[in-house]
Amino acid sequence: MIDPKFFLPVTGTVLPRFAGIATFMRLPHLALDDAMVEQVQIALVGVPWDGGTTNRAGARHGPRQIRDLSTLARNVNRASGLSPFELCRCADMGDTPVNPVDLMDTLRRVEDFFARLHAKGMVPLAAGGDHLITLPVMRAIAKDRPLGMVHFDAHTDTWDGYFGGSKFTHGTPFRRAIEEGLLDPRRTVQIGIRGALYNDTENDWGQQQGVRVIDIDEYHRLGTEGVIAEARRVVGDGPTYVSFDVDFLDPVYAPGTGTPEIGGATTYEAQQLVRGLQGLNLVGGDVVEVSPPFDPSGNTALVGMTMMFEILCVLAEATHRRQASRA
Ligand code: MN
Ligand code: MN
Repeated sequence: MIDPKFFLPVTGTVLPRFAGIATFMRLPHLALDDAMVEQVQIALVGVPWDGGTTNRAGARHGPRQIRDLSTLARNVNRASGLSPFELCRCADMGDTPVNPVDLMDTLRRVEDFFARLHAKGMVPLAAGGDHLITLPVMRAIAKDRPLGMVHFDAHTDTWDGYFGGSKFTHGTPFRRAIEEGLLDPRRTVQIGIRGALYNDTENDWGQQQGVRVIDIDEYHRLGTEGVIAEARRVVGDGPTYVSFDVDFLDPVYAPGTGTPEIGGATTYEAQQLVRGLQGLNLVGGDVVEVSPPFDPSGNTALVGMTMMFEILCVLAEATHRRQASRA
């Protein structure tokens, strides 16, 4: 029998937060072939890769800085009362293999890693990396049935291609995911969309597929409560993924990202929105586009790690609830 304390984070009241090796939220670090892996319910995983970035690269450095800043995390969500490490056994499963000079090879490596976690029954919570990493995660976990998605972003990421036909960039993952049947567009809601467009029809494709787009103007008209209600209506009871692009936030809160857009949400609103997802059938999530070279202060990584914690809270509640209903 394993020690129930094994999967609890190292507490800052015993070992100072600046000491020791930085893992996500001070959780144990396990390798895929470790015997303890069979016990893990939620896998926190880094994807140190930005090969899908079309302009300002740097998100490959995200996981390491997020791990560093995540030593500031604590165990209990004050607002919701949720205690994710009590609800589920969580571990830092390390970084996926990547190939910084081969995009297609990296997509295969990332998918394979998440497929192995999925086969062991683990629910993934990923730290990017640019937003293209969500595609191989979905390829790994949505083989059986398409997922719904609550997507926080300044951008829809449903463009068709770049540079004369490149189909795989951080501006295209959800078009590919819908085409591949991984994502159900009618159960997809995109929140916070703003910024200038390449052309006046650019936003049409996703909405033609049935995606619910809540742009930043509607976001402010609805208010946080209204956005939560609409997101819950769209995704319903089915399996749902949460994808959080840090550029959803105004760049005053998260300047360390590749494609900043002014006029975005506050960090407090983002926390409220994710807390509002409690009770949904959440099956995975990610925080992407934290790019440390554009914010060496670490504040964007602090924001990223805190949003990972918020997602972890509602993901652990959902995972716990599913396992209890099976037992
Ligand atoms: Mn994005
Ligand atoms: Mn974006």
